[in-house]
Amino acid sequence: MKQLDTIAEMNAAMAELTGKSIGFVPTMGYFHQGHLSLMEQSIKENDVTVVSIYVNPSQFGAGEDFDQYPRDLDKDKKDLQRLGVDFLFFPQDSEMYPDPYLTYVTVEEWQTLLCGQSRPHHFRGVTTIVLKLFNIIGPDYAYFGQKDAQQAIILKKMVKDLNVPVSLRILPIVRDADGLALSSRNSYLTSKERQAARKFPEALNKARFRINEGQDSAQRIRDEIIEDLKQEKMIKIDYVEIVSLDKLRQVNKIDRNNTLVAAAIKIGKTRLIDNFILGEI
Ligand code: AMP
Repeated sequence: MKQLDTIAEMNAAMAELTGKSIGFVPTMGYFHQGHLSLMEQSIKENDVTVVSIYVNPSQFGAGEDFDQYPRDLDKDKKDLQRLGVDFLFFPQDSEMYPDPYLTYVTVEEWQTLLCGQSRPHHFRGVTTIVLKLFNIIGPDYAYFGQKDAQQAIILKKMVKDLNVPVSLRILPIVRDADGLALSSRNSYLTSKERQAARKFPEALNKARFRINEGQDSAQRIRDEIIEDLKQEKMIKIDYVEIVSLDKLRQVNKIDRNNTLVAAAIKIGKTRLIDNFILGEI
């Protein structure tokens, strides 16, 4: 596993790989099995796998957790080595955002929905950094988790609208034994909060079950999720929304091939997201 810290080094390494398929997994580090599942898939499907670790400042809002975001480069590098990842790209802010930095990519409208309501600049930061990384690395395939469903949908739209020559692969959510979606931010939770967080996947699971039983009223399902979440006093609901997968529009009737049920909550200071989909991103 080779670590490269500059864009020039990365460009040079990628230029030597003519004829080889390149899989790319962008991350903010502090790996868990969710990250590793993306890398394993990339390794299976490509000749060369590149992973980036970059805690991207432009996707954090004022007052968010940029400074506290957990970091453990030594442990992450051991994971990369063990899995057989070929390259780690580990750039510094001065490389990614040379002063003055003036250019951003936005997927209009969709970036203001769901998580965009409480994180207004978040998706602009994500699309900008991911397009920059695509330009630097030039992957054939890039791997993202369904855990961040809105992110995946927005990135797919960016790739389509801007004709970016890469295919995105969206892989399932990896969960802890009790159902909580793995997240680097789970490390912020106290043991009491971690216990309370179980209610989150439970409420979504129940909703999925109710839909499977035949309930197709989005309002009814949404109300039930909210009611379930409210049973846990430590949970503060940010949003619960049921939208179409292809346009992120709120729906009345649940379509079994085109629905995203997504939610965000806060437990103490920690914001958690989770979702399930009917259909494919
Ligand atoms: P992050 O480091 O949080 O930016 O995540 C890097 C990638 O890992 C993103 O594509 C995430 O969607 C994905 N990811 C994060 N958590 C999970 C999870 N529990 N299961 C699957 N993928 C995940």
